[in-house]
Amino acid sequence: MLKDLVKNLEPSSTLRINEISKVLEEKGKNIFKFGFGQSPFEVPESIVRELQNNAHQNKYLPMQGLKSLRESVAKYTSNKKNFDYKSANVIIGPGSKELMFLLHVIFDGEIILPAPSWVSYAPQAILGRNKSRIIQTKRENNWFPTADDLEKIILKDKKKNYLLFLNSPNNPSGQICENLEEISEITKKYNLIILSDEIYSELAFNNDYKSISNYCPEKTIISTGLSKWCGAGGWRLGYFIVPNELEMIKEKINVLASETFSAVSAPIQYAAIKAYDEDHSIYINLSRNILKNIGNYVYENLKSNKVLINEPQGGFYLMPEFISKKFKSSSEICKEILQQTGVALLPGSDFGFDEKRLIVRLSFTDFDGKKLMDEFKKNPILTKSTMNKLAPKIVAGVNKLRKWSELI
Ligand code: GLU
Repeated sequence: MLKDLVKNLEPSSTLRINEISKVLEEKGKNIFKFGFGQSPFEVPESIVRELQNNAHQNKYLPMQGLKSLRESVAKYTSNKKNFDYKSANVIIGPGSKELMFLLHVIFDGEIILPAPSWVSYAPQAILGRNKSRIIQTKRENNWFPTADDLEKIILKDKKKNYLLFLNSPNNPSGQICENLEEISEITKKYNLIILSDEIYSELAFNNDYKSISNYCPEKTIISTGLSKWCGAGGWRLGYFIVPNELEMIKEKINVLASETFSAVSAPIQYAAIKAYDEDHSIYINLSRNILKNIGNYVYENLKSNKVLINEPQGGFYLMPEFISKKFKSSSEICKEILQQTGVALLPGSDFGFDEKRLIVRLSFTDFDGKKLMDEFKKNPILTKSTMNKLAPKIVAGVNKLRKWSELI
């Protein structure tokens, strides 16, 4: 009854670990929820109010999204990127994940995925029936592909179309791509386009964030949304910005949108206008600072000669690598850690790494974002006592993990 294509597909590991962690907690286990990655902060009040005020909006909206929202998004992005995007370039979707899926369905060519890559890119490539190529990246290159890595793949057949997924700040590594210029040169030279997943861009820890769209906007589709910076993952609102040069892609995504989800929920779209028209920089700066402090706390307290980690640069993940001969795979080590310590993590194999590398993803979001933000407004320094009081799960979970790692 089932197609071969889906027989081996399992539920997404991010959503699964979220559900497993909740079930274990309900059973009374002390679980440190470092598996799933969602914003710990509340949606800004004015945006919540706007959603309440628009609950009556009951009409289907245009398949590409509400014009006034697309205008707000285009203006917001053009200001940030110094590139002139128009509302016609924007497609609103029920989360950027769904739009990525539609992109896989319409694209004809090879998908290039760096390892590490977010868990859903590879399964979506399978569903889109395109061949995917995995590039094993290196720690010393911030876990991003080099121009050589890309060129090696493309030179195997220059006539094919290639689509590279680039995600910076990165899920799972927490790193920022620094070799954008050389990647853009390759992009301009060949039949290569890029999906630039910028969902964590507002949460880059340094102010000079740049993405590949700053270097080759005409060959880059920007993908982002409300989920991470606005604390609104459950609202499911994401968007693509497709340059004029890739208009065919935009048209076909619209067709597929009209044949699948029709249009994103109307009240959410009206509320989202507030998110992009209003200045939320205070909220964003606070979120970013808190995450930077928490990320650094985890990094400083976990790294050792048995646990290698790169310093976090943005978003809410770290990617520890355990040095041990005791375990055969990253999923085995995650199971053991969960059992022994209650710390939920995700295995690096879910992100494209060879399963023998004992790499895991740690999401440092298990704290009360509202309380921490209120405290941070008064005193923007994370002391030991604030950590103990307001992020006790982070402190205890990291402690347990460090002690466990000393024995491996
Ligand atoms: N992006 C989040 C994560 O990697 C969760 C959202 C999802 O996977 O749909 O944990």
